Amino acid sequence: MRLLLVEDDPMIAEAVTIALRNAAYAVDWVRDGVSAAATIAHDEHQAVLLDLGLPRKDGLEVLRQLRQSGNSVPVVIITARDGVEDRVKGLDLGADDYVVKPFDVSELLARLRAVVRRRGGQAAAVLYSGKVNLDPATHEARNGEVAAMLSAREFSLLHALMLRPGAILTRADLEGRIYGWNEEVESNAVDFLIHGIRKKLGADVIRNIRGAGWMVDNSK
Ligand code: CA
Repeated sequence: MRLLLVEDDPMIAEAVTIALRNAAYAVDWVRDGVSAAATIAHDEHQAVLLDLGLPRKDGLEVLRQLRQSGNSVPVVIITARDGVEDRVKGLDLGADDYVVKPFDVSELLARLRAVVRRRGGQAAAVLYSGKVNLDPATHEARNGEVAAMLSAREFSLLHALMLRPGAILTRADLEGRIYGWNEEVESNAVDFLIHGIRKKLGADVIRNIRGAGWMVDNSK
């Protein structure tokens, strides 16, 4: 899953980026409100972590404009402002959740997982598709009786498919969810990851739709 981090404090941005990458997210970083608005409009990210006190354009204004334009990307506000008023305003403007700095990264990660699964229409923490299941908190996957721990990128790929069971994702869709701006993508990276996942969980875990892309089944 690819996230956009909007944060003007480089030390916080670096710490959050490292923590998110360790948790298998691809992270792109912008440091002001104008760049944030322009980047969000490109629709490359599956969620946005949004600071409120930002140069050039306030975070609440960024949020207001993006919701007004019909963009429904999940947004978690991260801010030092702990006033009730800002918190309420952010939620009323369409933020999905809110963490107040200083926060524990494990809490941010848990809130992010909750926001993403609610958007996917799932209340349970573990994602299911047929006999395959995936736990976003531990990166453990199961295909029937076979269980395995996935690497960060294997997890990202299977997670992208399991958030939309029954939908075909193309190579470009998958690359866009796994890699950030500064990461070089080898031309066969997706095939390599799928090969690794199948080796761990069995060939039937991911279906290849010839000439189109890949999917997981949406049977229950
Ligand atoms: Ca700030």
